[in-house]
Amino acid sequence: MVKETKFYDILGVKPGCSQNDLKKAYRKLALQYHPDKNPNEGEKFKQISQAYEVLSDPEKKKIYDQGGEQALKEGGGGGGFSSPMDLFDMFFNGRFAGSGRGRKERRGKDVIHQLTVTLEELYKGAVRKLALQKNVICDKCEGRGGKKGAVEQCPTCRGTGMQVQVQHLGVGMLQQIQTICPDCRGQGERINPKDRCKQCNGKKVVRERKVLEVHIDKGMTDGQKIIFNGEGDQEPELEPGDIIIILDEKEHPVFRRHNGNDLFMRMDIQLVEALCGFQKTIRTLDSRELVITALPGEVIKHGDYKCVLNEGMPQYKNPFEKGRLIIQFMVQFPKTIPPEIIPALENVLPPREEIMISDNAEEVMLVDFDPETEARRRSSKNACDEDDEMHGQGQRVQCAAN
Ligand SMILES: [Zn+2]
Ligand SMILES: [Zn+2]
Repeated sequence: MVKETKFYDILGVKPGCSQNDLKKAYRKLALQYHPDKNPNEGEKFKQISQAYEVLSDPEKKKIYDQGGEQALKEGGGGGGFSSPMDLFDMFFNGRFAGSGRGRKERRGKDVIHQLTVTLEELYKGAVRKLALQKNVICDKCEGRGGKKGAVEQCPTCRGTGMQVQVQHLGVGMLQQIQTICPDCRGQGERINPKDRCKQCNGKKVVRERKVLEVHIDKGMTDGQKIIFNGEGDQEPELEPGDIIIILDEKEHPVFRRHNGNDLFMRMDIQLVEALCGFQKTIRTLDSRELVITALPGEVIKHGDYKCVLNEGMPQYKNPFEKGRLIIQFMVQFPKTIPPEIIPALENVLPPREEIMISDNAEEVMLVDFDPETEARRRSSKNACDEDDEMHGQGQRVQCAAN
């Protein structure tokens, strides 16, 4: 049981979800609400960041689950949150934008894009074309913004881009205030409007449509980054940033990835098949047909697992090695059976155990009970908690599915 679900709600996940689900949820929302894409949603971006920061940290998550937001505030340990931008840069680039570790020059902005891919594409590999807009140096003025010689030093700030104002605070007390030069907006130079480059209107860069060929290799995973070095926005005198493509794996109706390269699926079988054996076919992600056989005499119980070796996902960079295909069998019991066939059934099934009923035993009624609706009614918050006392077979199966 968790005390509050606010942070979970912000990320659109359930308490008890995996770290992978958390990452995926943060990735999606952070890209959507990043100030570059959604300048008016700063508050939302901050909330997403704070929720992720707490839930991705086992210590903080534990405090939050037990005592809610209040406990975090009281919990000492410094408290407070990282800057949403720092968290974002750390998550997507593995480094803080400000620190620029390992890079001497200032860089232009990275362009981050999420690309939705199917499980089939990750299985077989694919090439996807992706069109995007980026800033490139204007070729007409070669990034000068105007004719050669048309660019002159800003006379107001003498090319520094800054203006220093001196304020007298009192007798012998002076204060210097540096502000961005209003005439050149910090550029340190200006171009006479009539000499401005017509193509870029003096901005030195133009928007250009760029089509990228994104190679999706066999075995790539959800969240994996494909980096196009130096293909990000160009700016004069800056090293261009990167284009970062982040793969977003679409849910598949049949298969789910499990622990890396294994695939997981559920298969419904009839009671007769569970008891008497069966043959079934499975269409693979590359459209082959597999036949599986349960031998007569082997009983498959509801919820049983089996696996097929080498029919899971290919290993990234080693695609001839594949994981396993894990199948969980869901036995479809008949709702009712005609009473007249019961004797025949009894005849072939393993015999009942004799029971002894004492004279003072009380006869009671059996009524229906559904743990799922029960859990939903008790609290809509937490249907799959570890400490939940309802841990029957059906419940465990449901947890494994999440
Ligand atoms: Zn100036
Ligand atoms: Zn130009």
